[in-house]
Amino acid sequence: MLTILRHIIQEVTSAQDFREALDIMVKRIANALATQACSIFLLDRHHGEYVLVATQGLNPQAVGKVRVPINKGLIGLVGEREEPLNIDDATKHPRFYRVPEIKEEAYRAFLGTPVIYHRQVLGVLIVQQEDPRRYDESEEAFLVTLATQLAAIIAHAEATGALAELLQSSKEKRHELIYSGVPGAPGIGMGVGVVVYAPYDLDTIPDREPDSVEAEIQLLEAAFSAVREDLRLLSERLYPALPPEERALFDVYQRILDSADMGKEVADAIRAGNWAPGALREVIQAHVRRLESLDNEYMRERAEDIKDLGQRVLTYLQKNDRTTPQYAEKTILIGESITPTDLAEVPEGYLAGVISAKGSGNSHVAILARAMRVPTVMGVGDTPIYELQDKEIIVDGYYGQIYVSPSPNLRTEFERLIQEEKKLDAALEEIRDLPAVTKDGQRIGLLVNTGLGADISISLAAGAEGVGLYRTEIPFLMRDRFPSGEEQRIIYRQLLASFAPRPVIIRTLDVGGDKPLPYFPIKEDNPFLGWRGIRITLDHPEIFLSQVRAMMRASEGLNNMRIMLPMITDATEVDEALRLLRKAYTEVRDEGYDVEMPQIGVMIEVPSAVYQARVLAKRVDFLSVGSNDLTQYILAVDRNNPRVANLYDALHPAVLRALIQVVENGHQEGKHVSICGEVAGDPVAVLLLLAMGFDSLSMNASSIGRVKWVIRHFTHKKAAKLLHEVLGMENAVMIRCHMELALERAGLGNLIRAGR
Ligand code: PEP
Ligand code: MG
Repeated sequence: MLTILRHIIQEVTSAQDFREALDIMVKRIANALATQACSIFLLDRHHGEYVLVATQGLNPQAVGKVRVPINKGLIGLVGEREEPLNIDDATKHPRFYRVPEIKEEAYRAFLGTPVIYHRQVLGVLIVQQEDPRRYDESEEAFLVTLATQLAAIIAHAEATGALAELLQSSKEKRHELIYSGVPGAPGIGMGVGVVVYAPYDLDTIPDREPDSVEAEIQLLEAAFSAVREDLRLLSERLYPALPPEERALFDVYQRILDSADMGKEVADAIRAGNWAPGALREVIQAHVRRLESLDNEYMRERAEDIKDLGQRVLTYLQKNDRTTPQYAEKTILIGESITPTDLAEVPEGYLAGVISAKGSGNSHVAILARAMRVPTVMGVGDTPIYELQDKEIIVDGYYGQIYVSPSPNLRTEFERLIQEEKKLDAALEEIRDLPAVTKDGQRIGLLVNTGLGADISISLAAGAEGVGLYRTEIPFLMRDRFPSGEEQRIIYRQLLASFAPRPVIIRTLDVGGDKPLPYFPIKEDNPFLGWRGIRITLDHPEIFLSQVRAMMRASEGLNNMRIMLPMITDATEVDEALRLLRKAYTEVRDEGYDVEMPQIGVMIEVPSAVYQARVLAKRVDFLSVGSNDLTQYILAVDRNNPRVANLYDALHPAVLRALIQVVENGHQEGKHVSICGEVAGDPVAVLLLLAMGFDSLSMNASSIGRVKWVIRHFTHKKAAKLLHEVLGMENAVMIRCHMELALERAGLGNLIRAGR
């Protein structure tokens, strides 16, 4: 079966176009299963109907014409159940629905499976036969596997517009409008659009001679203090509800306002002959231009914050009352550039979703929305947001899409998804305090990755057993200079104290690559192959020493800290880092801190480290695989490049073999081996990692429940069998399908569909 499957996939993926791919699929499946009919129905979401798009065995004239209502017939039933339906005599089934045009009366046996991609039913794949019989288990598995392949092909066709073309019909205009952005915060929000906008547009303020320089400066100072006071009140209101890391966002605003430079610059511009609003515009625009020109996404986002502050100061400068929007009970907050303060102004309990025309997943507002668990879509770009006031809207924060004026069918579908998520969350909540242990007693540690948006309370609430990766570059990125040793000590102390006595692995500064510090510019042709991670900090021992001393001081009395070194490619780097770490330790002890030498670990994230894992393991206390980078370096696929994203998969056989080697080598030296890349939080991958022997997995807090759920549903024996099976496969697609199928069969299909 596996060989046939592989051949079909190869043939289908090399088809000229979408239609040909579908035709090949139905023909080959019918042949492979020696069955008389095979057909594909695709869901036309806009009309709530399944459309027959390819068939072998039904009336070919019906292709593209026959439409089955979403809630009708066995096709509708398969879609509703999101599970295969295998019946020996379809005509006797209560949901049988006769569509005369397709000429299926002769067929009795029916096997249908949903085609699902990223939680959405895209269609139904069916096989039929004249003689009543039940298709056997292997035939069912075969069809399910092909349906997962079909899903990927359809998703691609959707993105290229080929699907819309195929489904085009004479029906009149669709109901809802769909707009795409990028995911900001996961979840599905339904509500009514409330568009917010700054009362004055700073960009349109003209230059003007001031009547009195002194009067303008006084006006300016009054406006600055009014905004400062506004922010204080807002942050007071929000503080109790926010985790500490997010509170810092308000501090950033306050710091910008308090910065003597900003006030002074505006005052200077007034003295140079501009009235206060014009001077404010000059200064704000100059800052924004500078930030936007930086080659750093994070700092570019800060330009939005500066603009927001400028708007607020302008409002007071012009002495106008701010108009408060009328918030709906389920508000979908919409704006050109939604800011944290816009978010904070919505009355408690009213916020159902957020849509921001500008910004990305790194924007402050997205960070806040995630902390507040409000579904958010960012960067909807050209969407005419000012037309969305008072419209009914669905925000899909998982896939970064918004649906305006949804049809009743679509609404029902999303309501069902919300219910499904609630059920899943409730089930996950029940196992929160239980260990991650397989049915046959194999235990594995589940830890959390933190950094930007790090939410200590959410991590603890999710049942994390500690921190497997704290990305220290985040506090470095949030400043306009290197943080002092004492500033760092305070940050690390708070983290360590919150988790104590649980272990916390703090990683030394990992900048460079796609994370340059704005105040430490690095210009390189190939930044991912350049000066990054440990390479920078070893070249700047003063930065490294200041950081590790701060970590050690922070651990006094807690002793739950471990230190991890990123981007190690060579044993000499470890030797040098260890020398510096011992030096720092002696210094900190000499200062009078009563601390223990922390355990030291190395990240395995480049191929050379895989081959030298044993040499490295000898030198340190633990290894942790950074699979995000390891995958990009093994496969030579830039992890941030959407063009090659389809080639990037940590389940690639080459990556899996590297992981096995690291675990084996680490264990041969008696060392703890963990993994902290995104794959560790992927429910589809977790059984393989468990079978490989990883001692712990470190992931985003939101993945912990799902991963634990998988582990508790399987035996280690079954996981080992699955690993053995996938090691016989030749590509990541097959491996992923195989693992998804294993989860489906164990009744955990909802974990694959639910937002990850
Ligand atoms: C990794 O590379 O897998 C990793 C955890 O580090 P980062 O994603 O911060 O590069
Ligand atoms: Mg990395």
